[in-house]
Amino acid sequence: MCGIFGIRGHDAAAHLTQLGLYSLQHRGQESAGIVAVDPSGAARAARTMGTVSEGLSGTALDPLSGAMAIGHTRYSTAGSSTIDNAQPVLVRFRGGHISLAHNGNLVNAAELRLELEEMGSIFNSTMDSEVLVHRLARATADAPEEKLAQALEGVEGAYCLLVTIGDTLLAARDPRGWRPLVMGRLGDAIVFASETCALDIVGATLVREIEPGEIVAFDDDGLRCIAPLPRRDLHRCVFEYVYFARPDSTIFGGSVDRARRALGRQLAREHPAPSAELVFSVPDSSNSAALGFAEESGLPFELALIRNHYVGRTFIQPTQAGRDAKVKVKYNAVRDLLQGRRVVMVDDSIVRGTTTRGLVAMIRGAGAREVHLRISSPPITGPCYYGIDTPTREELIAANLAVDEIASHLAVDSLGYLSLEGMLAAVPGGPHGFCHACFSGAYPTPPPADPEKLRLGCGC
Ligand code: 5GP
Ligand code: SF4
Ligand code: MG
Repeated sequence: MCGIFGIRGHDAAAHLTQLGLYSLQHRGQESAGIVAVDPSGAARAARTMGTVSEGLSGTALDPLSGAMAIGHTRYSTAGSSTIDNAQPVLVRFRGGHISLAHNGNLVNAAELRLELEEMGSIFNSTMDSEVLVHRLARATADAPEEKLAQALEGVEGAYCLLVTIGDTLLAARDPRGWRPLVMGRLGDAIVFASETCALDIVGATLVREIEPGEIVAFDDDGLRCIAPLPRRDLHRCVFEYVYFARPDSTIFGGSVDRARRALGRQLAREHPAPSAELVFSVPDSSNSAALGFAEESGLPFELALIRNHYVGRTFIQPTQAGRDAKVKVKYNAVRDLLQGRRVVMVDDSIVRGTTTRGLVAMIRGAGAREVHLRISSPPITGPCYYGIDTPTREELIAANLAVDEIASHLAVDSLGYLSLEGMLAAVPGGPHGFCHACFSGAYPTPPPADPEKLRLGCGC
């Protein structure tokens, strides 16, 4: 998964993009980058491994002059942690510079890449997104938006794109609308961002979402919107509401905080915990859901688990002992609240179950008498091919164990997952028009030819 931000029409374009990326940092911490284009059409890139504050602050932005910029934060994906895969991609072609930032995953990238390689194209990275740059460079249409439309013909899968071609800034969203993308205005400048929290940080006002299948172009000739791509059934990623997006954002036309509270309330209706005395969240991702659970159940919401915000991303240990240590470094329990109490722990999802198991042990170690675990989404039973880096089926606990087996593995007194129907009814704009494939197995496209290869080369 990734975060993207772009702006055109502001002298401080690169600086504002840096600010936007700070607020999209939750969408990816593996690498970050900004490309800025100056009035002569010269484009310059700054890219770094790690976070925006680690590599895109201080003097890093000094060379990035110009009134147009796009930026990207990239989510970590196994095995592809190299600077070559950092975005935005920037290339020079016969018509000037093209730069591109992509959030999502193309499912037919391998086929499209082979096709291009057979025609002589050479690739620099293992990213699916590089395929799009080659297709753009080959497009024969004159208008930049028509070039992008041509390049996207026959491209399958999830993409929100920000592209610069020469002096034009373009935004595009795939016809199924998998990932969020909004347009805002800041004075005379137009801003695009994955989430509205990035508009807030630069002081831009929300204009509207980019529609599924829409391409928007902005240059000295003004704003142009076209919808050239074939219509498809809407498949917005429901996991954006469950876990990924920030609660202070509005995505897919709905408030993320409101969505999560509704998920928590629905969870309390489906799986009450009558013997419990208090509710707490696993901060930060389940805070809103736990508040919803507490509201619905009438139980007090307590801050019984404290998260350390200063733990570096790199604290990754392959051994079990290391993983337990990781939980302890990241979280600590408030013993005074938990001692002798019967408690409900609310989390948004369980992936491998490793963190959750460590947390339950910690809560018990702090003296809790009963631990009732409630999850504000259904069991994750399959991988995502559309931009979220879930592990393979073998590693997903719910793909291998039934709910009662998971409960014993995690050593909880009870475990309740939200139902698929309950989740889809609770989110804004539900129950239709959402992708829920990782929960339900209803994949809207055939799986990619080589899912493992795609994961390694993921350009999300
Ligand atoms: P687990 O017990 O499966 O090891 O970890 C569960 C925790 O991982 C939950 O708190 C959930 O919020 C979080 N989580 C869910 N999806 C993702 C993801 O894609 N990336 C990361 N870093 N955490 C996730
Ligand atoms: Fe979102 Fe799951 Fe669909 Fe992936 S498979 S797009 S995570 S709902
Ligand atoms: Mg979490």
